[in-house]
Amino acid sequence: MIVVVSPDATQDDIARIVSRIEDSGRQAHISVGTERCIIGVIGPELPELQDMFETLPQVESVHRVTKPYKLVSREFRPNDTVIDVGKGVTVGGTELAVMAGPCSIENEEHIVNSAHAVKAAGANILRGGAFKPRTSPYAFRGLGEEGLRFLETAGKVTEMPVITEVMTVRDVEAVARHSDIIQIGARNMQNFILLDEVGKSRKPVMLKRGLSGQIEEWLLAAEYVMAQGNPNVILCERGIRTFETAYRNTFDVNAIPLAKQLSHLPIVADPSHGTGKWKLVAPVAKAAVAAGADGLMIEVHPNPDLALSDGAQSLTYESFASMMRSVSAIAAAVERTLSGVGATAAAR
Ligand code: PEP
Ligand code: MN
Repeated sequence: MIVVVSPDATQDDIARIVSRIEDSGRQAHISVGTERCIIGVIGPELPELQDMFETLPQVESVHRVTKPYKLVSREFRPNDTVIDVGKGVTVGGTELAVMAGPCSIENEEHIVNSAHAVKAAGANILRGGAFKPRTSPYAFRGLGEEGLRFLETAGKVTEMPVITEVMTVRDVEAVARHSDIIQIGARNMQNFILLDEVGKSRKPVMLKRGLSGQIEEWLLAAEYVMAQGNPNVILCERGIRTFETAYRNTFDVNAIPLAKQLSHLPIVADPSHGTGKWKLVAPVAKAAVAAGADGLMIEVHPNPDLALSDGAQSLTYESFASMMRSVSAIAAAVERTLSGVGATAAAR
């Protein structure tokens, strides 16, 4: 249920409403907008409770939320959420977030060089995998904690926030300590215990859509994180499994405008995993930005043919810079900007 508070309510009035909500055994989540305060009530929605809340002083109206996800829904929070991911970078505002870097961190020099290259081309967030979910147990599975330290160093020297995946509850503390954004990979979209755990952290979480995740299941997965008190959730569309085998996954561009209609959370597009083919990455990145994505996640490698994972979908430094130039034209058409270095690099 949503309780809309009168515009002239004082802090004391709001506190009184919150304590009545809590007395009823429900949780209250306050969201302060530009014009008024909205209180989300989490718990069973009984008609008599709605009547009771409507009679409280300074309550303007009470609405039932029709969707199964509550905190994530646009009904709950009409304004777009903008997430501060540190080092002056936000995700969800006018400026596009561009997360770029290798699929896997291979050594310190590799991630530091990659960080400099993607930053020079206009990225504002560094990606790199240290814990890698691989189809085969014999494939390279990442450098683990050592990789996290290399990533943190690369982020420090280039003054970029960093994002990396966590695969298990055991590693949440270490990943949160070394990185600015915690990534939940597609294969863990419905690992509910892991979602609970990252929800207890206050670090921003980027939640990738599962290989066969329906939109509602994905938004309910985001609800798990928010229900634990972490409001900093970024959605990521990374392609889904379909009957088509001509490419690795089918990038679902529909998901972008739909997620934006259903939810206030920012959404990032990952055309690297979404296509699996480097030649498709730039065109699909442009389509995603045109469709309203708040950012991109792009895999970049200095020598894709030598990459320890996902070389076939990785852009070289040069092709990434060229992609950024063409994305900047689309970004301008949809009234989005690229960050500081990006804006100048992309304009050249
Ligand atoms: C990745 O970002 O490298 C990754 C493994 O992504 P996904 O979970 O989308 O497959
Ligand atoms: Mn990858």
